[in-house]
Amino acid sequence: MFRSRRYRVDNEQVVLVLTVLLVLAVIVLTSSVTFCLSGVFILGMFALSAFTIRAHHRALMHSAQLVNGAQTPELDRLVRICSQKLQPGPVDVYLVKQNQMNAYTFGIGDPKALVIYTPMVQVMDPGELSFVIGHEMGHVALGHTWLNTILGGMAGIPAPFGAAVLLYAAFRWWNRICEYSADRAGLLACGDLNLAVSALVKLAAPNIRSQQEFDRALAMLDAQDDDVSNVLAEAFQSHPMLIRRINKLRDYAQTAEYRQMQAGVNGNVGERAGSPMPTGQTREDPRPAVTPPEPQEAPKSPEERWPWLKKKED
Ligand SMILES: [Zn+2]
Repeated sequence: MFRSRRYRVDNEQVVLVLTVLLVLAVIVLTSSVTFCLSGVFILGMFALSAFTIRAHHRALMHSAQLVNGAQTPELDRLVRICSQKLQPGPVDVYLVKQNQMNAYTFGIGDPKALVIYTPMVQVMDPGELSFVIGHEMGHVALGHTWLNTILGGMAGIPAPFGAAVLLYAAFRWWNRICEYSADRAGLLACGDLNLAVSALVKLAAPNIRSQQEFDRALAMLDAQDDDVSNVLAEAFQSHPMLIRRINKLRDYAQTAEYRQMQAGVNGNVGERAGSPMPTGQTREDPRPAVTPPEPQEAPKSPEERWPWLKKKED
């Protein structure tokens, strides 16, 4: 079974280490009283988040629908393909009725929970959904899900104002780099840059119906990073600007490393490199081979559906 995690962005772990070192440096540099308080605070935050997660999970069990082959066969099929490709470990996927485009993971122990809000399923086609599911499974596979819980608590330790801002910014910096890694996992799961990009655009503009609306939405996203206030605001946000995520994915899709990774994960579902169709069963999984998402419309070339992809060269 191919389990490589080499889609992790290079400096993701460097930034994580830097963030932890910063947290430790602030703890050491402040007085011993603060030191003790910080320790107690971190333990308290950890206990609180563990408690919150458990409560959240219990609430989900009542209100959310666990994705399974009987009730949500189509979604279950996508989940199984993504899981076979990325090998994230035990993950339960829940569908939650909410009026919001969102998906997220949580949990410290196994299985992790992956939550998808219903509008995602209504708005995105199967390939785009595979990107979203793969993105979230990437967070699980790379350990972001449990690390986020612990580091989130640590970054909130009581510290002098300047240091607190610095810690928070460092934590957010790591969050944003994790998003780039998870986007790569999403791309590997869906196997098509065009689907990955259209999924990202639909996060901002879920109601696009035509190519014109799509182009307009993308042009709006493209202008995001021209605004200096957006660039400054990003320093305190958990997610990078969508246009940056799109551009980073485009760059990654050009690399030989990506092609190698894609061939590896495709092999997990019996696909040959470059072939979008799984043809056989994997050795570990005795269930029938899953079929990949099928496009809802008549097949069109990527450039026909998304001509802007061809034009863009930067
Ligand atoms: Zn994410």
